[in-house]
Amino acid sequence: MTEFKDDADSLVKLLIRDDVRAMSAYHVQDAAGLIKLDAMENPYPWPGDLSDWQQILGGVQVNRYPDSRADQLVERVREVMDIPARYQVLPGNGSDEIIQLLIQAVAGNSVQVVVPEPSFVMYRVLADINRVPFQGVPLLPDFQLDVPAVLETFKAQQSSLVFLACPNNPTGICYSEADMRQIIEACPGLVVVDEAYIAFTERDALPLLDEYPNLLVMRTLSKVGLAGLRIGMLIGDPRWVREIDKLRLPYNVNALSQRAVEVALRHYQQLDGQARQVRQDRELLLRELQSLPLDQVWPSQANFILVRTDAGRAGEVFDGLRARGVLIKCLDGAHPLLRDCLRITVGSPDENASLLQNLRALL
Ligand SMILES: *Cc1c(COP(=O)(O)O)cnc(C)c1O
Repeated sequence: MTEFKDDADSLVKLLIRDDVRAMSAYHVQDAAGLIKLDAMENPYPWPGDLSDWQQILGGVQVNRYPDSRADQLVERVREVMDIPARYQVLPGNGSDEIIQLLIQAVAGNSVQVVVPEPSFVMYRVLADINRVPFQGVPLLPDFQLDVPAVLETFKAQQSSLVFLACPNNPTGICYSEADMRQIIEACPGLVVVDEAYIAFTERDALPLLDEYPNLLVMRTLSKVGLAGLRIGMLIGDPRWVREIDKLRLPYNVNALSQRAVEVALRHYQQLDGQARQVRQDRELLLRELQSLPLDQVWPSQANFILVRTDAGRAGEVFDGLRARGVLIKCLDGAHPLLRDCLRITVGSPDENASLLQNLRALL
């Protein structure tokens, strides 16, 4: 046995890339038994009833491969999101997969990935995995875009793939539209606006698609109540989208998810109503958090709120909340601009009340 183990070690070393062996796997916090305010999920359950699941299960032939293009799912998404027919919609296994496909499509082609940071970590993770040069450009202290600094990075490579999350995660802030336009206009390459939090803001980059040939939009159903189904999408000019589509695995969205989304989106009004409720509760939670002895609380256009504790206390507050049964996200150390920061997902009114009560006791 020992011999076999040694063999495996040396074979792993021989076969697996050094950078992969040096990586750690994406860590998801254990949430068992905790009030879950760490991952921007919708706190409300499926808006339909059991008969939906009878329809879903009854309508799926699991012995057959799913629809490779997920046509019906795409049609329903087009309807509820009002996506014009002139744009192609590419379904992904979450928008994480779409990010991966976009980066794979440019890997090895004198293209760098440019991301104003702090932002969603998967852009960097997937650039690293695909060995695409990555340039993180620090945001300004108010978390708006440092446009000159972004434009400066464009000189480093022939071409750039820029990800702008708007509203941004983990800041909850929308970039100024004028700044975004400057970057799109100056970018020698492609800009992807990631609208994962579109349900919680009035901003919408879809109308910009007609103005800019180097722009694509990404959306997801994860933050509006369907995170478990893993459905994201890329939207834009077919001349871009059909190239990205070639890299997609043939059956990337499984049959149960496809069918479940079709049924779930019949309840779109309710999902939309839940998002509206979360927006309202976000404003209540914001005011309550602003009344606590925190160093800073940022207004948010997403379903979470970023706060800064007094210097050096973020870890202790995070641990204290977890010990009291509330899980949030500690971002201290994730980026220099996130020093002492915690990110709190807006939950149900009861969950928010519990968070506040425990936070009050800890601060
Ligand atoms: C949550 C999140 C995603 C990931 O969405 P999935 O569709 O669940 O993969 C993408 N972008 C941003 C900015 C996010 O916060």
